[in-house]
Amino acid sequence: MSAQIVMLGPPGSGKGTQAGLLATHLGVPAISTGDIFRSNVSNETELGTLVRGYMDAGEYVPDSVTNALVRDRLGERDAVEGFILDGYPRTLEQVAALDAILEDQGRRLDAVVELVADHTEVVDRLLLRAQTQGRLDDTEAVIRRRLEVYAEQTAPLARVYGERGLLVDVDGTGDIDQVSRRIVSALA
Ligand code: ADP
Repeated sequence: MSAQIVMLGPPGSGKGTQAGLLATHLGVPAISTGDIFRSNVSNETELGTLVRGYMDAGEYVPDSVTNALVRDRLGERDAVEGFILDGYPRTLEQVAALDAILEDQGRRLDAVVELVADHTEVVDRLLLRAQTQGRLDDTEAVIRRRLEVYAEQTAPLARVYGERGLLVDVDGTGDIDQVSRRIVSALA
């Protein structure tokens, strides 16, 4: 199974968890732009200072910042054999940037896995995560905004990747193992 894979799905769809499991299964790194941004915010780096306001408001970080970060990360040694991208691309401009990055590296995407989850279920999961992990962008107002931004900016990506024949839709409901097995067999 080749392993240049993008995971798409709304906040709360479980895409971070599933990206991690799939990455372990395939022996490639899971690369989460959200995690990279969050660790920069907690370490109070220059990048952290730049992105914090956007994240706290549930808005997307500017594409120029995110694209540069991903270009660097995909150039690292551990990503040579493949990667699972979680939370990137999220805009049509990021889709074009990713195409250019991969083309420069002489490779292309193998699949885009879209986790499909019901709206009420994702809101419930995010509110629960707010209680257990205390993420600052998991308040109800910010969750609502993140879902809106996803619907406006990221949902259209499924159509683009669908037209390229790369899209694999997977039902994101059920327990973690069930979803993970569905993903692995959908990619086989
Ligand atoms: P979720 O998908 O659950 O909202 P993430 O951890 O993927 O959580 O992202 C959290 C926040 O990080 C986003 O709301 C956004 O501010 C920022 N972010 C992450 N990835 C991107 C991206 N590809 N483009 C722009 N902003 C991003």
